[in-house]
This record gives sequence, C-alpha cells and structure tokens, in this order.
Amino acid sequence: HTMSLPTTMKAVVIERTGGPEVLQFKTDQPVPTPQEGEVLVNNKISGVNYIDTYFRTGLYPSPKPEILGREGAGIVAAVGPNVSGFEVGDRVAWLETSGYAEYTAVRAARTVKIPDGLSDEDVMASFLSGLTVLSFAKETYPVQKGDWVLLHAAAGGAGFLMTQILKSIGAKVIGTAGGAEKCALVKSLGADVVIDYRSEEGKDWVKLVKEATGGRGVDVVYDSVGKDTWEGSLEAVKRKGTIVWFGNASGPVPPLPLSKLSPKCVKVARPTLFGYIDTREEFEYYTNELFSLLKSGQLKTKIHKIYPMEDIAQVHKDLEGRKTMGKPLLKP
Ligand code: NDP
Repeated sequence: HTMSLPTTMKAVVIERTGGPEVLQFKTDQPVPTPQEGEVLVNNKISGVNYIDTYFRTGLYPSPKPEILGREGAGIVAAVGPNVSGFEVGDRVAWLETSGYAEYTAVRAARTVKIPDGLSDEDVMASFLSGLTVLSFAKETYPVQKGDWVLLHAAAGGAGFLMTQILKSIGAKVIGTAGGAEKCALVKSLGADVVIDYRSEEGKDWVKLVKEATGGRGVDVVYDSVGKDTWEGSLEAVKRKGTIVWFGNASGPVPPLPLSKLSPKCVKVARPTLFGYIDTREEFEYYTNELFSLLKSGQLKTKIHKIYPMEDIAQVHKDLEGRKTMGKPLLKP
C-alpha cells in the first residue's frame, strides 16, 4: 500500500568535507525505496544538530556523498517488506541519517508514532536533543536532587532542554552561555547561577563556580563545548565528581592523560545518545518519557528558527557562529 510518489526530490547533498559551502541544495535527487524493515517518510520538518557539522567537516567520518541530518518528522509514505506496526499515513518521528531531504527511508526500529496533541515542530525541537538529555541525566550520571551541576552552552538546542530537566530533578544548576540574551533565557528556565563565559567577568567562570559552591566544586559537569572548556571543567568539578564530555562545539577535548584525574579522584564519561537507545525497548522508554513530558507541559521547547531547505548553509553558519538559541529546524 503506497501513496503516489514522485521519483525525484529536494535534498541537501555533500560530496566532500569542508565548510558550509560544501552543502549543495539539489532538486533532482532520487526518492529512496524502503528496503527490508524500513519505512519511507515524507519529512515535514527536520532537525539540525551540531553533530551534522562534524560529519560535514569530517571530524566524524562518514561515507560521501551523503545527505546530512539525523532526525525528521513527517508522514509514512511507503512501507518496506517485513515491517509491522506502521502504515502509510502514520505521523512519525525518526532518528537515522539523511534528514535534509523531502523523503527518507529509515529503519522502522528507529521510528515512532507521534502522539496526538504534539506537533511535528515540538517533537523535532526536542527529539535527538531531548532523548540525549534524558538519557545522560539518568544513565551517564544519575542526577540527584540537590546536586550541583555545571552545564555549558545552556541556551543551545540540547542545553535549553537540559536546564529544564535538571531543575525538574531538583538539581542546583550553574549554566554558562555566551551573551546577555542567552543568559537571560537560561535564567528564565530557573537556573540558579548563570555565567556569561564570553564576558570579562565570566571569563573566569571556574572561580565563579567555586564561589557558588562554597569552594567545593560541582558534583557533575556536562561539557559539550570541549576544547575551550575541558580544562576549566576539570578544575570546577569537586573531589569524587564526574565530568561528562559529550560534544565538540569548540573542537574536541585533546587526548587526556588519566593521571590528570587522580588528584581529585574524578570520573569521566564520553557518552553518545545512540549508545542508550540501541534496543527497541530503550528507544521506546526514552521516547515515551519525552512525549509525556511534552504533553504535560513540563518540558518546553524552543525553536530558534525554521529555515527553508535551500538556506541550509546559513543554518550551519548560524550554529557554528554561536548565533542560535534553542533548536534550528529545516523545512524540506
Ligand atoms: P547547540 O545549539 O548547543 O550549539 C552549540 C553551542 O555551543 C553554541 O550555540 C555555543 O553556545 C556553544 N559554543 C561554545 N563554543 C563554541 C564554539 N567555539 N563554536 C561554536 N559554538 C560554541 O548545539 P546542539 O544542541 O545541537 O548540540 C550541543 C552539543 O551537544 C554539541 O557539542 C553536540 O555535539 C553535543 N551533542 C552530543 C550528543 C551525543 O550523543 N554525544 C547528542 C546531542 C548533542 P554559546 O554561544 O552559549 O557559547
């Protein structure tokens, strides 16, 4: 059972790694055919995540040519062999590859139905980012009520959601962000301390973190900035504390001698979302949790802007230029 499908579509293709200029908007890409275990989704909206820039630059290797983008939401347009649980017309969200396109063939195992009452936009503003935040706050380091948490880039796509989740657990949150507008946003989410790490005063954010915690340091740092913050994060964590390094917005954390961890008995983790949602059971656990938080209004989403697909280079420039607050989305 299929809808009538076009044979070609709009998509953003990269043939080689490089700057935003390697992103090519094309209108003649073949519409994929869903294989065994796959559904074809007509994307209504796609998420743009910082990880997409790593595949573009080559920091993370992937075969080229490639259609970037790791998540989408839309309507099932065709169902491949041996798929149960999905029908043409279902409204779904998925986590796979090739989201910067009108149509994507994705594993049914990585696809979920979007419950009534939630918009595609709400789900895309919180899908990859929200599942990351939920799994990292539960499994990488189980955040407890009363914990002091240092969260970098707290106004970003993941950070905006993480701040809310940490506050809902009852943690004391120190959020960093660049610029007054971003800091005001983080404060509005209930963060206890907000530091503009790009300002004169905030440059010494390690000192401010120490002051806020009575000299003790934080129980856990969630650091996705990497190169520019890793050393400070190590200083700001308490004795027996944990650092979660999970991204490279400023570049990767350099190879780290383990001996640096011993003076304070520090634990380090380097998680990836995909490691926590490998089985269908795990994927459904976190998607159900996310959808119920969205439905109840406990988790708010923030869309930076919805860009038309032809403006993809601008989205990458805005992300890498630290110009976005909340999540940028792409309209195929
Ligand atoms: P964001 O919306 O958070 O954008 C990145 C932010 O990082 C910027 O807005 C900026 O905020 C901050 N930043 C600090 N230094 C720099 C720099 N030199 N260049 C650019 N930005 C910088 O992106 P996402 O929400 O998509 O992702 C957030 C982070 O989490 C990324 O590092 C991403 O790779 C990581 N991530 C990891 C996952 C995993 O599975 N391990 C899953 C999801 C996300 P400011 O201006 O406030 O400094």
